[in-house]
Amino acid sequence: MTAAVSSKRLFFAIWPQKKIRERLERSRKDYCPHIGRWTPAENLHVTLVFLGNVAVRLIPSIEAAVSGIDARAFNLDLDWLRTAPGKGMVWLAPKEVPNELLELVDALKSSLEGLDLEIEKRAYRPHLTLIRKLPAPFEPREIEPIPWPVRSFTLVESRPSRGASEYLRARIWRLRG
Ligand code: ATP
Ligand code: MG
Repeated sequence: MTAAVSSKRLFFAIWPQKKIRERLERSRKDYCPHIGRWTPAENLHVTLVFLGNVAVRLIPSIEAAVSGIDARAFNLDLDWLRTAPGKGMVWLAPKEVPNELLELVDALKSSLEGLDLEIEKRAYRPHLTLIRKLPAPFEPREIEPIPWPVRSFTLVESRPSRGASEYLRARIWRLRG
């Protein structure tokens, strides 16, 4: 007999549409050495707020809380290939973080206050992880911006697996405009 699932590993994220994923793949091939573990294209994302393990009974309240968010759509220019601080990862990040992105993250965090969740308190550094387990040093560089029109955000369940994590997009909310 298997026990009922009582918690899920959850996070809020923005997820690139197919066209942007294809651009990202082309840039990765152009600029990155073929080493380390590449994130599968369908897994590429930018985390907004990481929730960690959440009791399943809290999910309806989480969804209800963020459904009231009135945040604006925005454009994100991904133009900075860098390594994650202290880790063997290559990130693609925006050199300039749009205010709308910071407002969305703040709105998510405030809407979730009082829900008995442990929310990340470190400074928010938006990024997309391209490569993990990088065995050699990587020289950070600026690249021709990849313009990403961000029109929605999503609640994602992360299922750890032996290879790359599996991500299930549970719900999607449109941004205004
Ligand atoms: P794996 O752990 O298998 O390498 P992953 O890190 O992408 O894959 P998760 O650990 O489930 O999968 O993380 C999901 C997302 O949340 C990732 O974008 C990850 O960078 C981010 N994340 C994970 N832990 C934290 C944390 N403590 N604070 C902020 N973001 C986190
Ligand atoms: Mg992880």
